[in-house]
Amino acid sequence: MAENSAFKSFRNTPSDFMDEALGGLVAAHPYAEWHEEGFIGLLTNDGQSDDSEERVAVISGGGSGHEPMHAGFVGPGMLDAACPGLLFTSPNAVQITAATEWADRGRGVVQVVKNYTGDVMNFTVAANSTNTEVKQVIVADDVATEIDNDDSPGRRGTGATIIVEKIAGAAAARGNDLEAVASIAQRAADQSRSMAVALEAGHLPTSGRKTFDLDEGEIEVGVGIHGEPGVERRSTSDKEPSAKALVQELLEGITQSLDDADVETADAQVLLFVNGLGGTSELELDLVFGEAVAQLADRGITVHRGIRGTLVTSLNMAGISLTVTVLDEELTELLDAETDAPAWPAVAVSPRYSPARMVDDVEQPEDGDENPWLTAFVERLQESFDDLTELDRVARDGDFGQNLEAAFGDLQTPLKGSDTALLAFFAHRMLVRAGGTSGAVFGTFFREMAEAFEGADVDSRKADASEFATALADGLSRGVEAVTDLGGAKEGDNTLIDALAPAAAAAKEIDDATSIDEVLQHVFDPAVAGAKSTRGMQAKKGRASYIGESAAEVPDPGAIATTWLFGKAPVDEF
Ligand code: ADP
Ligand code: MG
Repeated sequence: MAENSAFKSFRNTPSDFMDEALGGLVAAHPYAEWHEEGFIGLLTNDGQSDDSEERVAVISGGGSGHEPMHAGFVGPGMLDAACPGLLFTSPNAVQITAATEWADRGRGVVQVVKNYTGDVMNFTVAANSTNTEVKQVIVADDVATEIDNDDSPGRRGTGATIIVEKIAGAAAARGNDLEAVASIAQRAADQSRSMAVALEAGHLPTSGRKTFDLDEGEIEVGVGIHGEPGVERRSTSDKEPSAKALVQELLEGITQSLDDADVETADAQVLLFVNGLGGTSELELDLVFGEAVAQLADRGITVHRGIRGTLVTSLNMAGISLTVTVLDEELTELLDAETDAPAWPAVAVSPRYSPARMVDDVEQPEDGDENPWLTAFVERLQESFDDLTELDRVARDGDFGQNLEAAFGDLQTPLKGSDTALLAFFAHRMLVRAGGTSGAVFGTFFREMAEAFEGADVDSRKADASEFATALADGLSRGVEAVTDLGGAKEGDNTLIDALAPAAAAAKEIDDATSIDEVLQHVFDPAVAGAKSTRGMQAKKGRASYIGESAAEVPDPGAIATTWLFGKAPVDEF
């Protein structure tokens, strides 16, 4: 059995982990076949390397833990074979020799090698121990390890590796000879630079141990793909760095290194590759991609091609790397060439960035006198978004307060305008901005309310109490009916209906109120009682209904928010 560890992983017996994981990788891969000598070979029709197609072969390899690199790039148009080492350990020379000889189709083999001492040595031993003609392409793109010192091993090989594999594979596929494939792939490598930042270390699925030590609140700028130290470990306790600042720092390092190597970046056309290190969400990669496109443009660098994805990982490390490759016409053509390698992403052509905003041009009503009734409602909501979200989170999916905030968060109080105008505006905001069940439900409710006040031609700013009570009773009843039609909720289903229905019933019975406040107070008490009754009630509707028993012990946030239309009672009173 696996020993207990601080981090959870999918695994059986740790010592079997690699065999089982690689077996699964091969099973899921459309073009891969496991060779017992220790490599993954491109599967052709008859399961043999297809010698009929005479071309240069391209192989690669490296420690495992960087998936989908390299095995995911085995496929027509990219790699013929990949040699996986143990976790974060270079493959051995015997594996590489076997892969080299197997892959050769009589025109020689290009080995794409990341610049790590172990990788370079084992690939070199393999190249020297076979009669197959071999050319090596060394990828050394990580600017964090650039040290001006002849004795240093030089820059590490990281994100650019898959670009180089793509270029080599495409050059081989179009029939270039060994020398030509190697030289154009080396050009791609030499014109590429990368830099990474880690927000959190990963952990090993075999032992559960962290891949390196990074304290909470620290980030590692310039981290390597095994969690090797970077340029700087930085505390973020004072201030979390913005994505903008991090992207700027990485791009600065990258462009500086390219310029130092006389790879002109001014006015260059480049490939931008935004890579997730395994524990960063795709949406964050999207944000970083947009940011990097914009910042490169500011530097006078045109992103001619763009790719983004979780492609060169460090197990589950949270972080990203940026890679920039200066393109020329030939590299662009090879980048664009077709490949069926399963992990190769779609390539964006001339990406442009601007934030994708939804435009909502319905403006908050501003005409006329202040509206104390609806101002009070919105102010009660605005004080309580977090409390409502918390209630939704305890029992549900935790978005209710956020949904209301999206609709009401930016309203300027005191509100001005008629009940009709404001209620219609609330309906619009809930339907257009809120999302979730509450968007549709409250949107429908406010629409009915607006229509009732409009039909009765009543406005709380000037109506007498009985006119107001009649319009309110009509609006609430219509609201209950429409919301029940929409979602089927009845009293007792643990929704806002549990507050709305008693409020509607109470409003109908008002006959002697002398002020608007008195009308509202009369409705408020039964609404609060209804909202309180939801504590201990099993949700039968909405997303809360999926989680069963655990929803029971908190009141329904939708019902609480509904009561605030009539009066004030803090969340903890329910
Ligand atoms: P979601 O259920 O999509 O996460 P929200 O969190 O935005 O939606 O809203 C949840 C609120 O919506 C609940 O507190 C409840 O008052 C209300 N609600 C859920 N389902 C219904 C329904 N079928 N009819 C009326 N109101 C509902
Ligand atoms: Mg919710």
